[in-house]
Amino acid sequence: MFAKYKTVWRVSAFALVALIGAFPASAQSAFSKERVQEHLQYLASDELRGRGSGDVGNQKAARYIAKEFASYGLKPLGTRRQNDTNAPIDGSGYFQPFAFNAGRTLGKQNRLSVERDGKTTKYRAQKDFQPSTLSSPGEAQGEVVFAGYGIHEPKANHDDYQGVEIKDRVVLLLSGTPGNAPNSPLAEFGDMRRKAFNAREAGAKAVIVVLPKESDPQDLTRFTHATSAHSGIPIARVRYAVAEEWLGAGVLDSAKAQADKGETASRALNVKISLQTDVPPQTKVTANVIGFIEGSDPVLKNEVVIVGAHLDHLGMGGAGSLSRSSKPMIHYGADDNASGTTGVLMLAAHFGGSGANRPVLKRSLILMCFSGEEMGLLGSAYYTRKPILPLERVTAMLNMDMIGRMKNDEMILGGTGTAKEWKEIFTPANEGLGIKISSSDNGFGASDHFSFFLQNKPVLFFFTGLHPDYHTPTDTVDKINFEGEAKVIQLVANCLERTANFPTSLTFQKPVQTAQSTGAGRGGRVYFGSIPNYSATVVGVLLDGVREGSPAEKGGLKQGDIIIKFGEKSVKNVEDYTVALQQYKPGDKVPVTVKRGNDTVVLMVTLAARKE
Ligand SMILES: [Zn+2]
Repeated sequence: MFAKYKTVWRVSAFALVALIGAFPASAQSAFSKERVQEHLQYLASDELRGRGSGDVGNQKAARYIAKEFASYGLKPLGTRRQNDTNAPIDGSGYFQPFAFNAGRTLGKQNRLSVERDGKTTKYRAQKDFQPSTLSSPGEAQGEVVFAGYGIHEPKANHDDYQGVEIKDRVVLLLSGTPGNAPNSPLAEFGDMRRKAFNAREAGAKAVIVVLPKESDPQDLTRFTHATSAHSGIPIARVRYAVAEEWLGAGVLDSAKAQADKGETASRALNVKISLQTDVPPQTKVTANVIGFIEGSDPVLKNEVVIVGAHLDHLGMGGAGSLSRSSKPMIHYGADDNASGTTGVLMLAAHFGGSGANRPVLKRSLILMCFSGEEMGLLGSAYYTRKPILPLERVTAMLNMDMIGRMKNDEMILGGTGTAKEWKEIFTPANEGLGIKISSSDNGFGASDHFSFFLQNKPVLFFFTGLHPDYHTPTDTVDKINFEGEAKVIQLVANCLERTANFPTSLTFQKPVQTAQSTGAGRGGRVYFGSIPNYSATVVGVLLDGVREGSPAEKGGLKQGDIIIKFGEKSVKNVEDYTVALQQYKPGDKVPVTVKRGNDTVVLMVTLAARKE
């Protein structure tokens, strides 16, 4: 499950649930819990190292799935060449490879030099300075301005830019917030992305961050979790002692003491900096795994039901990790989503194969394991852009993500409002299984069904709930309820069979959404209601859609719009947009500039308060 959409999911799963009557439990699952356990033990093993997209462990998992598909006689829909994005999709294998942006690495050409009193001093990368993980690649020169903690938030009555010229300068700032008091009203402004955004928007050339005096030498050299979305400005971090050389002995101490009291300590320095940051983007290749079972009905076999689950997880951690430690550790992802992947394998065995008990399906079936899900639903989004069978032929998509932690026979079923016929299908499918289903009509969600919902496809999302191990190294196989999972898979199989044999194809509908905002009241978090695309490589924020009744919709934003400015601030990526949004209050009217086709359109949006 993709962490950035998690709040979206929370709303859909808990605010909108309606408990569907539970049936008396009698029938057990026909799926073997031992087999479920076997698959899970391999997929969530040390050997697969968390199945990070683009990593060897992920490739091994994909090959395991392909081998299983082959053993059940599934027809391959992809290519044999797992790592070749140019490979023809010729049905010779099960892979659909795609390239993705895998963040940035630390290059070798990082330089920092300073001109002071006619003397040039060169500093050593890794020892004296290091590019920030938020740094853009590039070069910058300029006079240095010391700007306290670099907090430029006039609306919060704190402006470290006061009295100094920022434009075309290099901003030198302290990391953190005055006094670093966690409960200070300024605490939220300590975020480096926000400081960098403000510096860039004020026209600064670069940012230099002074690390605390007492900081660990490793704090300087650490360069992990560099996502592809940089801040659009070169940023370097320097040791405290280095900045002391520039301000003069004792001067930095007293300036910091001043800033800690909330006073303005800003001043221009007689120092010129030259900075080069070498943080090149990294591209990796990963693959979806796709198998096909042809339907038995001469006409209906042209329609397809897709059942899927993502095979990737977080590997050794990274940006999606919620682990307290930033040390690389295997994130096993037993529940997320070795459990769903196991579901796909069990269903492949059930509907494929040549056994006499094999259920006959009138419509065709695509079984698919997605990669890149944890990085923003990349695999499913890629498939909907480059479908191997035309999307028009897809009648529904069923998704399993985190189905391994069933407790008290309870689970959540999402998307039940996305087809008129869903209730008619899943209610009898649960007969005899006795699963207590909390259903949510919403097709939005933090997993791959969302990509298909955005293409106006009916979706169902099978899910046994969040837990404290979510996205941490402790999501391990010993915590899986194998019997419960076998039961969920039986429910999926029943729904699948009923969907594939339903007399008509399903009727997509947009579920009626409960309002997400109160629309009134000031203070608190701001609600806009856009659905950003996390896999696009455009400059700006591409919208996959807008929520019904949201400020974004009322303001006239549409699917396909690319937000390039929010108020007066430019927006280069989703992170920029988040920072820009934080600077407003509910009730504020904001001009939002979007690219729509070849046009640039400015729309006025009145922000609302987010319902907590
Ligand atoms: Zn996840």
